[in-house]
Amino acid sequence: MTYDYDLFVIGGGSGGIAAARRAAQYGTKVAVAEFSRLGGTCVNRGCIPKKLMVYASHFPGLFADAQGFGWSGVESTLDWKKMLAAVDNELTRLNGVYQNMIDNAKVELFRGYAKFLDPHTLEIEDRKVTADKILIAVGGQPVKPPEIPGIEHAITSDDMFLLPEQPKCMVILGGGYIGVEFACIMNGLGSEVTQIIRNDLILRGFDDDLRSGIQEGMQKHGIEVLTIAESPTIEKTPEGLKVTLAGKHQGTIMADVVLSATGRKPNLEKLGLENAGVEINKGAIAVDEYSHTSQEHIFAVGDCTDRINLTPVAINEGRAFADTQFGGMSRTMCYENVPSAVFSTPEAATVGLTEAEARERYGDAVKVYRAKFKPMYHTLSGRDERTMVKLVVEEDTQKVLGAHMVGDSAAEIIQGMAIAIKMGATKKDFDATVGIHPSTAEEFVTLR
Ligand code: NDP
Repeated sequence: MTYDYDLFVIGGGSGGIAAARRAAQYGTKVAVAEFSRLGGTCVNRGCIPKKLMVYASHFPGLFADAQGFGWSGVESTLDWKKMLAAVDNELTRLNGVYQNMIDNAKVELFRGYAKFLDPHTLEIEDRKVTADKILIAVGGQPVKPPEIPGIEHAITSDDMFLLPEQPKCMVILGGGYIGVEFACIMNGLGSEVTQIIRNDLILRGFDDDLRSGIQEGMQKHGIEVLTIAESPTIEKTPEGLKVTLAGKHQGTIMADVVLSATGRKPNLEKLGLENAGVEINKGAIAVDEYSHTSQEHIFAVGDCTDRINLTPVAINEGRAFADTQFGGMSRTMCYENVPSAVFSTPEAATVGLTEAEARERYGDAVKVYRAKFKPMYHTLSGRDERTMVKLVVEEDTQKVLGAHMVGDSAAEIIQGMAIAIKMGATKKDFDATVGIHPSTAEEFVTLR
């Protein structure tokens, strides 16, 4: 049987494009289908525009800090439309970079929504194509909890980059990455923010010191974080959105915008997976360690598989798939010690086991080294900011199991720590490393 393509990739996001380019390098005939802008969630509705807005949100703090260093005060206001237009320009540039990358790799691009007709045949708009192997890399989308009355009035993170005006007052539902990052961005940009979470602390699953460190920092910056187990209700009124709270914070909040940041789900509805016999498990495509689906020749990577939903993970999964299927290697993605950051203000980053996870695994043989201090910059800025650094160590082997940080440049610092931890560094290795002085990062090698 001959096919039109050796590999057809559904989805032109981080995972799909990485896999397509790598497969093409091995001489594979590859095509990609994408119905929207190239680059997927990360480039168009996620990491990139979010991080650009994080930068924008830091300027008022910097202007204020400067006075502690002898600068006169700065009067400046935000032009919301100008900020979003600048962000969008950069996204358009990146869309072009992606286009160039696939053109240079000689990967064919189909503009349209791909749907399975049978296990080897896809329909894209009115064209039918066949492929020997098919990779599903369709990503995910935000979900709103249907049980919340009036949730149809809430927007999702996708809409945040399209708001015609900056909300003066905003309510955010959810205490995950997206809720926390947008709470900090909008607070920094000058909106009044209330974040509603259903646990005592934001960011369930992260190290508790990191969770409390960020939350305390956010509250100091003026974000109201309300812990409410009961669902609120949302009502549209002529004055704006009325959010009614139950439980211990009973009352109402008037908001211009309510953001539902309550999780994401894979984009599987219209793919016709049933026509290809691809199995789904708990709403995500079921895959093995080589990203095989229930069909031997169909694979899936990235957020549609619900492993770890991070761009670099999708890219690694895509490349491991291409190396294995077309490069004569046997490569799988390793999910241990995957570092990640929360681009909140204060920023936080983490790699390896949390203290709770380490204690569950190693019991009493876990030693924790922690420091919380006022960083040098803030000795003159006058702001009451705290940085937290923490190492989780297994006492018997001295192996560093986890590193966690809250504070400026946490992502940049933890990225370096992640290499050491991935290589199996011990506390003695950290102790034997000379610090860079004066820096925050040196605290990691002087913890006693
Ligand atoms: P998360 O799953 O991380 O968080 C969802 C939040 O919403 C949780 O606090 C959850 O509470 C809460 N929640 C869920 N359902 C309800 C409900 N019915 N009522 C009230 N609260 C609810 O999802 P996000 O959307 O924040 O992020 C999705 C993924 O995107 C992340 O897991 C991450 O992988 C990725 N991402 C990564 C970023 C980064 O690396 N910096 C940035 C943004 C996203 P509970 O904890 O109790 O379940």
